[in-house]
Amino acid sequence: MPTRSPHRPPHAPDLASYDLLAPQLSGGKDSAVMNYVFMEAARSAGVADRVISYHSSLGVLEWPAVVFDGVRYPGVSELAALQSAAFGIPADRHVEVTRTLPSPDGTRMPHSLLTEIAAYGRFPRMGSPYCRKAAKESVVSAAWTPMVTRMKRELGRPVRILKVMGLRSDEGPDRKKRPAFRTVQSNSARLVDEWLPIKEWSTDAVRDWHRTAPVPYCWTYDSVPGAGDWAGTSRCSCSLCPYAARRDVQLSAGRRPRLADLYAEVEQVRGDSFRADWRITDLIRHTRTCGAPDPGVVCPDDGPEFAALQVQVRAALQLEPRKLPDLARDSGRALCNGCAAQS
Ligand code: SF4
Repeated sequence: MPTRSPHRPPHAPDLASYDLLAPQLSGGKDSAVMNYVFMEAARSAGVADRVISYHSSLGVLEWPAVVFDGVRYPGVSELAALQSAAFGIPADRHVEVTRTLPSPDGTRMPHSLLTEIAAYGRFPRMGSPYCRKAAKESVVSAAWTPMVTRMKRELGRPVRILKVMGLRSDEGPDRKKRPAFRTVQSNSARLVDEWLPIKEWSTDAVRDWHRTAPVPYCWTYDSVPGAGDWAGTSRCSCSLCPYAARRDVQLSAGRRPRLADLYAEVEQVRGDSFRADWRITDLIRHTRTCGAPDPGVVCPDDGPEFAALQVQVRAALQLEPRKLPDLARDSGRALCNGCAAQS
């Protein structure tokens, strides 16, 4: 394990002033570094026992485990649990949460983000990243509620929670603008602050840290699992993300063709395009006919969870959308002349 980080955590809050310290582990390369830096700070402050880590699982949409050349590489949820354990958080203090909805038999069943997009009628856009709130933030916030209710009664004051995230300035202008420390919720029951301890880490520093890290990084970052070349996708969360670079989406569409086809189905039925500037339907055609990055590995997506996702998404598409697709109707242009000629 590295003995020091290239940057000291900026704007480090007084960790001892919080009742719950809650690192949010996405399973990506940044959340591993964040948890390393954060847990060092928590141990220094003598409050490591107040830590509970959280992973908002995106279910079938996130990168699954793969077997390549006889070696198994873990998927994103498994990596989040490994990132928690690697820096000393006991297994019973790592919590995986997911969005659910009532099933016909009265129990709760997973409610996929893609189903939500199909029901809503529009893909997330710059300026309205509702997916982050729907699939991640509100799910974790809801998971805190029973604890907050109990602790508020015991403490006789609002519960103080520190949410710790691995966001970095290098990831884009919106991340750069986000303060390293801020209060995100304050009411009579809870006060929630947000801290980004590795905000100023560069991408190179993160990759360098991973060379000697005690936990693997996700296989999708490499050209093929285990290559160690960082020539795969640049991000890892939902396999297909409207905010990702085009090359990432092309590579992801090659690695998860059945999932990409399901996104295209939503796009075609709803009329709203995956991105404001291009359609995933065009990108898939471009990827399959005009050449694309070698996916290196292809996920079969043939298990019962994927079949259940298809059923859920197609059922949502049978209903009227909650929003009309005015935002981006007809704006998804073809990606090249070759594609346009074949459309
Ligand atoms: S990975 Fe992309 S699509 Fe998935 S929740 Fe995050 S921003 Fe939304």
